Amino acid sequence: CPLAGVCRDQAFDVTPYSHALAYFLLGHPDAQDFGRKFKVAFSGCDTNPCALVRIHDLGCVARTRVVDGRTVRGFETYVGGGLGTVPYQAKLFDEFLREEELLPTAQAMARVFARLGEKKNRNTARLKFLVAKLGLEEFRRLVLEERALLPHDPRWTSYLADLDRHTEQPLKPPTLLAIAPALSREFKAWKQSNVYEQRQHGYATVTVALPLGDITADQLRGLAGIARTYVQETIRTTVEQNLVLRWVSEGDLPALYEDLKALALHAPGAGTIVDITACPGTDTCKLGISSSRGLAGELRLRLAESDLAADEAIRDLRIKVSGCFNSCGQHHIADLGFYGVSRNKGGFAAPHFQVVLGGQWSENAGSYGLAIGAVPSKRIPETVARITARFRAERSPGETFQSFIRRIGKAECKRMLEDLMTLPAHDAEPSLYSDWHDPREYTIGDIGVGECAGEVVTPLEFQLTACEREVFEAQLALEQGDAARAGRLAYESMSHGAAALLAWRKHFHSGTPQAIADAFREHFYDTQLFHDPFAGGKFGHYYLRAHDKAGQPRDAEQTHRLIEEAQLFIEACHSCYARLSQAAAVKV
Ligand code: SF4
Repeated sequence: CPLAGVCRDQAFDVTPYSHALAYFLLGHPDAQDFGRKFKVAFSGCDTNPCALVRIHDLGCVARTRVVDGRTVRGFETYVGGGLGTVPYQAKLFDEFLREEELLPTAQAMARVFARLGEKKNRNTARLKFLVAKLGLEEFRRLVLEERALLPHDPRWTSYLADLDRHTEQPLKPPTLLAIAPALSREFKAWKQSNVYEQRQHGYATVTVALPLGDITADQLRGLAGIARTYVQETIRTTVEQNLVLRWVSEGDLPALYEDLKALALHAPGAGTIVDITACPGTDTCKLGISSSRGLAGELRLRLAESDLAADEAIRDLRIKVSGCFNSCGQHHIADLGFYGVSRNKGGFAAPHFQVVLGGQWSENAGSYGLAIGAVPSKRIPETVARITARFRAERSPGETFQSFIRRIGKAECKRMLEDLMTLPAHDAEPSLYSDWHDPREYTIGDIGVGECAGEVVTPLEFQLTACEREVFEAQLALEQGDAARAGRLAYESMSHGAAALLAWRKHFHSGTPQAIADAFREHFYDTQLFHDPFAGGKFGHYYLRAHDKAGQPRDAEQTHRLIEEAQLFIEACHSCYARLSQAAAVKV
C-alpha cells in the first residue's frame, strides 16, 4: 500500500515482502503458463482500503502473533478475489501464513493455477473462477499438496535477513509545522485532506490529487524536481489514481504546497467525495458505453461548488465510475458506484448509468454493491444530490453509508430515484440523448423517429423493463435473507428476457422454460446474434448456464453472482435489441 512503512495502523512494513514476491515470481518458470494475469496485493492492516486485498487473486494482510514469547510475522491471506464483469469476493485461505511460507505458498498457487486454470477462454482465465469451480477447500488441499512437493529454494527466505534494505531514508530532518496565522485558508483545506501524519514524528505523507487521474508531461517533470527537493526520489501511486510523496519534513509543507500550486497540482480533497475514480470510458476505450470521465468531471465540479464536501458525513464517501460493466473504475466497491449502459426509446439511444449501492470501500473492499436501476447519464448529478441529501438528513449518529442503505433498504432507494429512471421521449428532452461534453447524438444510433413515447415504446422495451424489475426483486429477496427466492427470480428474469427477444423476432415455442432456452440457443446463441461485439457469448452463456442449474441450491454469495449475471443478461438483451433494430433500419 502507498503508506507501507509510514502508516500509523500497520502491523509492519509490507514493502520488502511485496518486493521479494514480485521479483521471485517474475520470470519464474512456474508462473509462465497462466491463461491471464495473476494479481497480488499487500496491506499493512485490515481496516483501510489502501491496497484492496479482497479484489485480488492473492491478497496478503500483515499480522503478528506471539509464539513462545516471541513476536512472529505472517499474513492473513485471501485468494480468488476480483472485480470484472461479475465480482468475486476473495476467500480466506490462511489466517496466519508465516513469513517464511509466503513465497513457497505463492509458488504452489502459481503451479495449481497454471495446471488447472482456464487457458483458452479469456473470460474465465482468472484464479477466481478456478477457486469457485474447485471450492476453497479443494483449492487449498491442492496448493498444500503442491507445496509439500516443492524442492527447497533458498530465495524463499534469503530476503528475510535484510528486510531493511527497502526502508526509505528521509532527505531532511524531522520538523514541526509552525502554527502561523499567516497560513492561508486554502493551505489549511489542502492539509486537512491531502496530508497524513506519519508514524514517524515530524514527517508527513502528501497526496498529490490528480483529478480523473490525469497529469501532463510537464507536471510530471516538475513533480520529479519537487520530489528531489523534499523527499529523495520516491513517489508512490495509489488505487485512487493519485500520487504520494512520503517523508516530507512537516515544516516544509507550506513551501511544498506553493511548489505544487505552481504546477497546478495542489487540488484539495484527496480521498474525499470529490476525489472520483473513473476509467477511460468512451474517451478512448473501445468497450465504453457511457462517458465515465465526462460524468466524473461534471460530478467533481458540482460537488466542489456545493457545500456537500464540507459535511463530515458526506465528505469521506467514495464515488467510482466505469464506462461499462467491466468495472475498471471499481464501481462495485464504492459507496456510490456507476457503470455505463444504454437504453432505447422510440428508436433513439440514450446513455445511462446503472446506480450501484451497498459496496464497501473500507476494510480492503469488504463487500460488493448491486445495481438498483439505470438512470440517464445527465441525471446522475441529481441522483447523487438526492441520495446524499437523504443520508445527511436521516443518518443516525455514527451511522455509515452502507448501514444507512441497509436500514432504509434497496426498495426505498429505488423509489427515491424512480422518476429519474424514467426516460422521456427524445422530443421531450433531447439533451438526455447525448453524452457529457459531446453535443452529438449518442452513437448507438438513430433508428427511426417516433411521435411520442406512448406510441413508440415497443412491447419488447416494456418487457425488458419488467425483467429489470424482477432482477431488482431478486435483490430485495437476497437482502431479506431468502437466497432461494432470489435465485429463482434472477433466473426467471433471464428466461423472460430471452422469451421477450424471441417474441420480438417472431420465433415461436411452447413457452416452457426448457423450450425458451432451446429456442434462445437456436436463434440467438448459436447464430451469435446475441453475442456482444467485444465480450462475445459471455452474457448468453450466463443465461444458458443458469437454466442448466435452475433448481440447484445456491448460497448467498453464489446468488449474489447470479443476480449480477441476470442484470448483465438483461443489459445484453437491450444491446441486442438496439443492434438488430439498427441493422434493420440500415437495410431499409
Ligand atoms: S470499465 Fe469498460 S469502458 Fe471502462 S476502461 Fe474498463 S472496459 Fe473500458
